[in-house]
Amino acid sequence: MENRKGVIAVNKMLKECGIVNITEVPLELLVAGRGPLIRYKEIKGADGRIVFGEKRNAIITINSKIEYEGKRRFTIAHELGHFEMHKNISVHNDDDLTLNNFKYGNQEAEANQFAAELLMPEKLFKEECNRKKFSPDLLRQLSEKFNSSITSVAYRFLEIGNHPIFVFNSCNNKVRYWKKTEGYYLKVKDITNLAPPIDSVAAEFFNDGTIYRKEDSAQEINKSTWFETGKYDNAESFFEYCIVTPKYNTVLSIVWQC
Ligand SMILES: [Zn+2]
Repeated sequence: MENRKGVIAVNKMLKECGIVNITEVPLELLVAGRGPLIRYKEIKGADGRIVFGEKRNAIITINSKIEYEGKRRFTIAHELGHFEMHKNISVHNDDDLTLNNFKYGNQEAEANQFAAELLMPEKLFKEECNRKKFSPDLLRQLSEKFNSSITSVAYRFLEIGNHPIFVFNSCNNKVRYWKKTEGYYLKVKDITNLAPPIDSVAAEFFNDGTIYRKEDSAQEINKSTWFETGKYDNAESFFEYCIVTPKYNTVLSIVWQC
């Protein structure tokens, strides 16, 4: 059965606090109300950290060098998830990998599910997508509406959006991993740990630094770019939208069919 521990913990917490609409409560106030102290400090090699004290209260440290509010909020919510669910840990650090579901321990998946449900509640997220066609603009609208990073919105969309998508994560010109909407069957080429496909938009960034303008961010590609194809396959239209983070040399490719 699917692990819903993160979602259950959010609902329990909101009920205990008497919160009906979480989007109306400032996140830091909520954390303070639950007990942990938040402080901002430069942390080398991590975005967030939680340290439990003797009486099971905790200090949450958030890296003061995080540039984007969406990422800061997601990190805070992830640490709050550890606080609510994982009282067995004493010290825990989070980085790009744990926060993006790359290092997959159960507790990381639970804390990410907690953060996603807290910041982008399923019901509101689905309402927001309702009858809208998938596009990079829709992801940007959702990111603004939920004050969350475009990356976390993309993963949320993959899980509960109204159109199936694939997400490929590449770093330093190598595909690290990919995920897809459940039940969406396309056979991905054997690319993990290799350079992104030569005709992909991700490869354009790694090869010559191309980053498309907002208006051009949905680039048409072939099905065969990322997927195995058969004889009758190529009439379909596929698109790739790359979320590029030059600072970390990473590209998140969102791929979908029209
Ligand atoms: Zn964590």
